[in-house]
Amino acid sequence: MARYIFITGGVVSSLGKGLAAAAIGALLQARGYSVRLRKLDPYLNVDPGTMSPYQHGEVYVTDDGAETDLDLGHYERFTGVPASQADNVTAGRIYQQILQKERQGDYLGGTVQVIPHVTDAIKNFALSGNEGVDFVLCEIGGTVGDIEGLPFFEAIRQLGNDLPRGECIFIHLTLIPFIGSAGELKTKPTQHSVKELRSIGIQPDILLCRCDRPVPEKERRKIALFCNVRESAVIQALDVENIYDVPIAYHKEGLDDEVLNAFGIDSAPAPDLTVWKRISTRIHNPDGHVSIAIIGKYTGLMDAYKSLNEALAHGGIENRVKVNLQWIEAEIFEQEDPGLHLQGVNGILVPGGFGGRGAEGKIRAAGFARERGIPYFGICYGMQMAVIEAARNLAGIATASSTEFSDTDEPVIGLMSEWVKGNKVERRHANGDLGGTLRLGAYEAVLDKDSKVGGIYGVRSISERHRHRYEVNINYRERLEESGLRMSGLSPDGVLPEIVELRDHPWYIGVQFHPELKSRPFSPHPLFVSFIKAAVEQSRLF
Ligand code: GLN
Repeated sequence: MARYIFITGGVVSSLGKGLAAAAIGALLQARGYSVRLRKLDPYLNVDPGTMSPYQHGEVYVTDDGAETDLDLGHYERFTGVPASQADNVTAGRIYQQILQKERQGDYLGGTVQVIPHVTDAIKNFALSGNEGVDFVLCEIGGTVGDIEGLPFFEAIRQLGNDLPRGECIFIHLTLIPFIGSAGELKTKPTQHSVKELRSIGIQPDILLCRCDRPVPEKERRKIALFCNVRESAVIQALDVENIYDVPIAYHKEGLDDEVLNAFGIDSAPAPDLTVWKRISTRIHNPDGHVSIAIIGKYTGLMDAYKSLNEALAHGGIENRVKVNLQWIEAEIFEQEDPGLHLQGVNGILVPGGFGGRGAEGKIRAAGFARERGIPYFGICYGMQMAVIEAARNLAGIATASSTEFSDTDEPVIGLMSEWVKGNKVERRHANGDLGGTLRLGAYEAVLDKDSKVGGIYGVRSISERHRHRYEVNINYRERLEESGLRMSGLSPDGVLPEIVELRDHPWYIGVQFHPELKSRPFSPHPLFVSFIKAAVEQSRLF
């Protein structure tokens, strides 16, 4: 039977619970255990699919097409275990299910209540489908004390009693701030946060304390005493330079030993941290650097492009270079010449996006990369903008555009109302709900044998994750190919262009899917490895 680790957070948000959970998962894996990571989000949206990136950061898409919290990206990147719809639930989805059952009369006239109905639904979610897994790590979103989090905390409290003794532990992530004027690290916020947790009936087994400097022995003792935890279970989580240093840093502080100890496991093998050491060494000892410009819309908010950031870093790790990112608002290029901002960059990347704002700027950036021979990587929206650019300026289709933001007479990018997934036809209705109307999740694509992408992947058939409504219009294939933009990857039925590449260019590739979602530090995505390699080569030209 699986053992359960519940991870909660206190004091402030953004302490990195997701990363902490992912790193603990990686450490347990390094000792030979199988893990599964799940996220319980207390907000009322059914999923983050319709939330603005400003609210929620990136929407992470799984193979089975779920739009999930970005923490699931950390889980996958650190453990390599593919996440699924069943790994993320929100209060909204729980209530949706309960209300549906209530309308169907399933409660047989009973009063439907938070306890036991909501808490039971949360518990069922956390416990289901864990057969054969050694450790299930469940992260509770938000911070202890949030009103909306209460049913979730209550549910995991109950699980503490429902599960066999010793099969479940609670880890609480807190902050030990340094107060400059006093010149001291302060333990009081942690004390209060644990008090809050204990008032709900949860006694943490381990405290993981985020801090920007070492916590002296005396303070640790104080925390242990006031929070009712063992001294050895007060673990300092010092800020690290790079997120991939976290597993090693936690191990050095004894976190994985403490976790196993809390379960009464004393016979676990020492962890094999070879891959993490290799990654860490490479990150800290690059042979050079490249500069990549990202032309986006949410450039002020790093979380909006979390996986992209990571995938580029993975490409750098593999090529032994540091990848410096220059985030540029696409709209700037609608007023100013791209050359003013893009001079000296070794690669240009236009990521995914929605709506019309900044579209013309992205099209200009794609044109600049094409004309100057600078490596260009267009992802989803970035591919669509590259296609519009080529249609207008290579194929001479002056009014080419996307129906997403114009009522053009030359829709090189347009809406498809149906497509084939496996053996099934999936349909979308223009007036359907906004949530869940996208082409989502893993789809196969077939690559042209003698194409650039064929060489990069080294296989003919690939599977990649999608999240978009619009498609490149296959009816323009001939005209685009004649002008030099090749459709080198198509859906298996040959109807949906999945990849385009420019013939006479060092590296100019657009993909309709999101390769960044499948890149891992220890298994970087081939497109990112190849793109960064091309950027390295470009940097040597000068
Ligand atoms: N807005 C575009 C579409 O819906 C691209 C989406 C994306 O980049 N994820 O097709």
